[in-house]
Amino acid sequence: MTQNEGNLEVCLPWQHVQWQRVIDLHLNARLPHALLLSGMSGIGKSRFALALAHYLMCSEPQGEVACGHCRQCTFNLAGTHPDLKILEPEESGKQIKVDHIRGLVNFLDQTSLQGGYKIALISPAENMNLNAANALLKSLEEPSASTLLLLITDSPSRLLPTIRSRCQSYKFNIPAVEEATSWLTKLIPPQTDAVQLLQESYGQPLTALAMLETDEISHRQKMSSEFIGMLKGRETPVAVAGKWLQYDLVSALEWLSRKLAAIISLRMANKTVDDDWHEVGVKVNVQEVFRLFDQVVLLLDQLNRGANPNKQLALEELMLHAYDSFRKSSPLK
Ligand SMILES: [Zn+2]
Repeated sequence: MTQNEGNLEVCLPWQHVQWQRVIDLHLNARLPHALLLSGMSGIGKSRFALALAHYLMCSEPQGEVACGHCRQCTFNLAGTHPDLKILEPEESGKQIKVDHIRGLVNFLDQTSLQGGYKIALISPAENMNLNAANALLKSLEEPSASTLLLLITDSPSRLLPTIRSRCQSYKFNIPAVEEATSWLTKLIPPQTDAVQLLQESYGQPLTALAMLETDEISHRQKMSSEFIGMLKGRETPVAVAGKWLQYDLVSALEWLSRKLAAIISLRMANKTVDDDWHEVGVKVNVQEVFRLFDQVVLLLDQLNRGANPNKQLALEELMLHAYDSFRKSSPLK
């Protein structure tokens, strides 16, 4: 997450309930020192946190929005406010370590340089290792005046219960399709189909935007044809595993797990998917799909917990499993 230079954030259309709650607390001088923002990825929790930071730091807010002109807003517009700190792992998926948290606690303990709030964002908060989380607890127990800690997480259950219990919790749900589509339509090229893009991104509007800026869409098309090609005997599992090494493993596995989950739920309802996966969806033994799904989820969980398995071996194992079990139960043509 970076401060979006040149822009002050405002809350997204589907976040008004949470926004109202937090603003009311602030206006009544009852805003706690730590908030936990949780919910699925790609729905704008970080944006909400930044919008709140920008609003709270502004010296002349206009209604519920930062003014964009005062000294504080000028710092925030440049992404350089000395009283705002964003703490993330050094690399995506890596741990947040105790030294980083000590630095953050130290930052919060110092007097505000601009005389207002000191605000720290930690994202994703579940990436704090145990020592880091314990170091943060002290700060949560004895918060300095006019400080706000915003913990952002996709997986609140992976945080220490003692951390969770010291934060006020804000849950964010996936937005309604109409709301997300109408927001997305204003931001994407006119020829892009917002509904389809949103489907491809599991209903997560921010993920949809990010997908447009990366190769994710073409990667998924390739992964799909490679995987199905393998099930049809056109490619070997080892060859497909080799090709999948070029993709981001977590994104690839998330995508595959959702494909498998869709097949399972449709089969349970005696329906089937209506795309390239139609034949797979109709023919394979649903028990085999369950087993493969479990294997994918287990691998994803290991990766999300910071494990560093041999990617090639893990992918080969996965592809061999898919090939053996799917083709055994129902040879595809
Ligand atoms: Zn301002």
